[in-house]
Amino acid sequence: MKQVLERAYAKLNLSLDVTGRRSDGYHEMVMIMQTVSLFDELRFTLRDSGPVRASSNLRFVPNDQRNLAVRAVQRYLEAVGEPERGVFIEIKKTIPVGAGMAGGSADAAAALRGMNALFGGRLSREELLDLAAGVGSDVAFCMAGGTALAKGRGELLTPLPPLPDCLFAICKPAFSISTPELFKKLDSAPVRRHPDTAGMLRALEEGQLRELCHRLYNVFEDVDDRRMRTVARIKSRLLDFGALGTLMTGTGSAVFGVFTREDAAREACRVLEKEVGFCRMARPVPAIEL
Ligand code: ATP
Repeated sequence: MKQVLERAYAKLNLSLDVTGRRSDGYHEMVMIMQTVSLFDELRFTLRDSGPVRASSNLRFVPNDQRNLAVRAVQRYLEAVGEPERGVFIEIKKTIPVGAGMAGGSADAAAALRGMNALFGGRLSREELLDLAAGVGSDVAFCMAGGTALAKGRGELLTPLPPLPDCLFAICKPAFSISTPELFKKLDSAPVRRHPDTAGMLRALEEGQLRELCHRLYNVFEDVDDRRMRTVARIKSRLLDFGALGTLMTGTGSAVFGVFTREDAAREACRVLEKEVGFCRMARPVPAIEL
């Protein structure tokens, strides 16, 4: 019986653009993503035989094939030609579910890293990234994380210069937003404004946090949905506490503010935890070597 522990870091979108619809039904995305120091902890136990199963501290997270970490482990075992092996995955969830922070995808990426550690690095970086893209759109980014530009469904990745040091206050209202529902709403009305991705890339190259923060933009915030009023309210509260910029991540419902002063970020979290229900401070996490 062999065991390994992995951290699964949450992601934030610094930008999110939808530039078209593809013939396969997926949307063409352009996103700048960042992993942050809010993480789930996963323990993988490898057995000679048996099922692949998960357990977690949250009752509503599935333990079977619907769990992306279970699916990732199964894909890995098939890829290395050992599908009869059993794996038990214990997941301690800290990343809020249905927040747009890629919690499930981060767990799946941690599962692929963990399995490769248990199997002595049998798959190459390229093979792992291929498997990741097959499990889910955000899983490839979550493999190495850091700061990256993601295109296509999110699986075409370009590493970017690291985000200058800063703090995030991340707030998640009690409601979650269904990703397919929001895409449907986006499809019913044309996207009128797009993020200035080129300007953001320039700001990252130059290490200009303020320039970057002025350009944080997510096309889903413009969708006609009453929940975006709550999102706008949280953004405005984060600015009250001195955030340089604010944004909803992914399809929400989590919203974050970027701060340079730790005391300001801490105070925002203390107050907004009471107002919003969930608010945590986090820092950018650099890319992991695969
Ligand atoms: P994304 O940012 O990729 O859109 P999200 O952060 O909005 O994702 P998740 O937290 O990944 O959403 O969870 C969405 C759904 O995925 C949940 O309702 C849950 O049933 C399912 N799910 C599958 N595997 C996991 C997992 N390991 N952790 C959490 N949810 C999972």
